[in-house]
Amino acid sequence: MTDSLPLPAGTWPTLEPGWVWLCGAGPGDPGLLTLHAINGLRQADVVIYDALVQKAILDWAPQAEHIYAGKRGGKPSAKQRDISLRLVDLAREGKKVLRLKGGDPFVFGRGGEEAQTLIQHGVPVRIIPGISAGIGGLAYAGIPVTHRDVNQSVTFVTGHDQTGETPSSLNWKAIAEGAQVLVIYMGMKHVERIANALLDAGRPADEPCAVVCSATTPDQQVLETTLGRMAADIEGSNLEPPAILCVGRSVLMRQVLDWQALMQGARPRNLDPLGRGRPAENA
Ligand code: SAH
Repeated sequence: MTDSLPLPAGTWPTLEPGWVWLCGAGPGDPGLLTLHAINGLRQADVVIYDALVQKAILDWAPQAEHIYAGKRGGKPSAKQRDISLRLVDLAREGKKVLRLKGGDPFVFGRGGEEAQTLIQHGVPVRIIPGISAGIGGLAYAGIPVTHRDVNQSVTFVTGHDQTGETPSSLNWKAIAEGAQVLVIYMGMKHVERIANALLDAGRPADEPCAVVCSATTPDQQVLETTLGRMAADIEGSNLEPPAILCVGRSVLMRQVLDWQALMQGARPRNLDPLGRGRPAENA
């Protein structure tokens, strides 16, 4: 199993007793783990993992104790403190601790807070980045997060804050006016409010949008819609979090880049979805 995939020769770091490696697990598909993640999973005594970590990934650490530290989105942060202190305790017991978080630990994942607490308590830490759902998850849906003909910037936004509400610190008008393409994490709960804020600020109702649920997992589902219809379409569907919302013309590229459909024998829906009128290589 895991031993059949050796790490290439090189100096791989040792997960020492008393250390915590704060590690991204990627969006779901175990194939999107990094080599540092695999190296850590193989050495850990304890893997303490979040709700969004796919169970198949824990199979890479059969020797370790697996501790679930799931949090429900938007609940008070007291539990976050418990998790951070639990990590401190495990490290002080001399365990080799792998803290495994969905996507990238520093992207809307409270990894910064956990690392800060650990360092404040004198616990040594290594950070292992992961593929964030807002990039890798969209790629699995055939949506390039940037495309030269669409956007020269991307705006990553969270749909709710620590209180569970739409973040009040966000200036939706400025975002609507300035963001070429928006990638919204944790946006399902307040999708109607978010869409309305963007529409009120002048984004067109027919702007292409996608909802990518459980991206990169066997349960992946993708809804293509528009800003004006997105909330109602989600309401009328069986789509559930976790989901990434993407607002912008990059979504159109899925008409040609839906590689998972192509793998299953489908034909591209539209070879030139941006209507450039010439092949992409002649740019
Ligand atoms: N650190 C994570 C994000 C954690 S916040 C990362 O970098 O990806 C949790 C949110 O991430 C979810 O509400 C959802 O918006 C998004 N998310 C995480 N995994 C996802 C997946 N497999 N498919 C779709 N969205 C996902």
